[in-house]
Amino acid sequence: MAEPKKIVVLGGGYAGITAALKLQKQLARGEADVTLVNKHDYHYFTTQLHKPAAGTGSPDHARVGIRDILNPRRVAVLKRTVEKIDPAGKKVLTDEGDIPYDVLIVALGGEPETFGIPGLTEHALFIRSLSSVRYIREHIKYQFALFKQDEDRTERLTFVVGGAGLTGIEFVGELVNRIPELCRYHDVDPALVNIFVVEAAPAALPGFDADLVDYAVDLLRRKGVVFKLGIPVKKCTSEGVEIGDGEFIRAGTVIWAGGVRGSRVLEASGFETTRGRVVVNPYLQAPGHGEIFVIGDSSIVLNDQGKPYPPSAQIAIQQGEAAARNAIALLRGREMAPFKYFYRGTVASLGKGEAIGSVGKYKVKGAKAAILKKIVDGRYLFKIGGVRLLIRKMAFFS
Ligand code: NAD
Repeated sequence: MAEPKKIVVLGGGYAGITAALKLQKQLARGEADVTLVNKHDYHYFTTQLHKPAAGTGSPDHARVGIRDILNPRRVAVLKRTVEKIDPAGKKVLTDEGDIPYDVLIVALGGEPETFGIPGLTEHALFIRSLSSVRYIREHIKYQFALFKQDEDRTERLTFVVGGAGLTGIEFVGELVNRIPELCRYHDVDPALVNIFVVEAAPAALPGFDADLVDYAVDLLRRKGVVFKLGIPVKKCTSEGVEIGDGEFIRAGTVIWAGGVRGSRVLEASGFETTRGRVVVNPYLQAPGHGEIFVIGDSSIVLNDQGKPYPPSAQIAIQQGEAAARNAIALLRGREMAPFKYFYRGTVASLGKGEAIGSVGKYKVKGAKAAILKKIVDGRYLFKIGGVRLLIRKMAFFS
């Protein structure tokens, strides 16, 4: 009897987990060997990282063990770091040896994009993983403690967020809720704390309607946030950031939320990329490699007008399902289906009980939008872990 074909999924983020779950569900027993390779043995909710980063939620709440989601009898999980893909040799090179494949689904996620701005890599902090947000959380607390050692150093209490996209704004929404608690604990006058959001574009939250953006910006301004719009971050040092035409903001904390790029593994493996992303064909395959699907933040899917869809958890999840279906079709020698993205809307949280959202022609803000956010998050938890995971995590996802 012929050996079962090997399907390997790289990455356990939104795209990879969804693909592995779909393969687990749709493949017949023994039809293929499925392996998921991930750096950690847990899956984390990237769209929730702003909470542990600001300290309003525990890092543990933003993750779930991969073995709690996938059936180990149907999907083998390997905790390894992917270093390179060798398409000619049909193998993946990892820190602990090579993994051969017949069909590969690459879902390695994104990395912060710094656009070559000097000093960001060295001095800014990034909301990108559980370890990075644990670090940010402790760093923020430490700034308060340091300030109490030398109260002339008020820049310890200055926070700069570069980029007013969803990551930057959702983080600031949590930070403004966290500051009063930190001030109380450290006996610090809240009036000494400064929070700046520096955004190169003329407005915050690109993609949202102007009235929703106004709502979000007004709300955060009332909570003390200073927006510097239409002003780029030019340079970051250990002392703070230089912005626009030379102004320097002295700050103990600089968070960079200026955007994401694809995984460097794809570039290192010789794929043609744009900012680390592979432009995939309508079936989500890498050009010239019919047996390799690329999905999530490391891929670019073009819309009907030939423009790339922005990366998001929503598109990653849909790509995960589509890539798994096409991988199975490929194995069975059947016809694959082109990927079709159904955009269901976006909700941005602005701290506890506050959010903005646009779903179809409906626009929501305030408490209603915060409930909508809970529903969106709840649907995902249910999808990957059923009622058990939903009940376990839902309180945190509020
Ligand atoms: P983004 O690309 O959406 O936003 C980055 C922002 O940084 C932009 O507004 C850009 O103009 C700004 N910027 C870039 N260079 C700058 C500079 N030099 N100085 C100042 N500002 C600069 O990136 P993001 O917010 O990290 O989001 C990445 C992706 O993840 C997006 O597609 C987003 O939709 C998605 N996301 C979704 C959620 C959610 O659904 N709740 C949460 C977080 C992120």
